[in-house]
Amino acid sequence: MRDLKDIYLKLKEYEGRYSLEMYDYERTLIVDAIERLIPVKAIPNKNSLTGKQEYNYWVCPNCNQAFAGMLDYCYHCGQALDWKDSFYDNE
Ligand SMILES: [Zn+2]
Repeated sequence: MRDLKDIYLKLKEYEGRYSLEMYDYERTLIVDAIERLIPVKAIPNKNSLTGKQEYNYWVCPNCNQAFAGMLDYCYHCGQALDWKDSFYDNE
């Protein structure tokens, strides 16, 4: 995973020197980084046998990795998470 610091350092390296090739590559990294800053809803992590959500377990919609707790950011990929209107759906 590329984090914001990697992208920042890469951009500093290219400062004052522009090429289309660099632009496309860096643009992909920047778009990816910005997308991870925009909060998205975590997906309830359902038990494959019962179909019910595992207690307080969620799946990141960006990297599809599971995590526990209502985190502000996925600790696998850094995706910002939105918990507005989220609830356990076992009720
Ligand atoms: Zn993630």
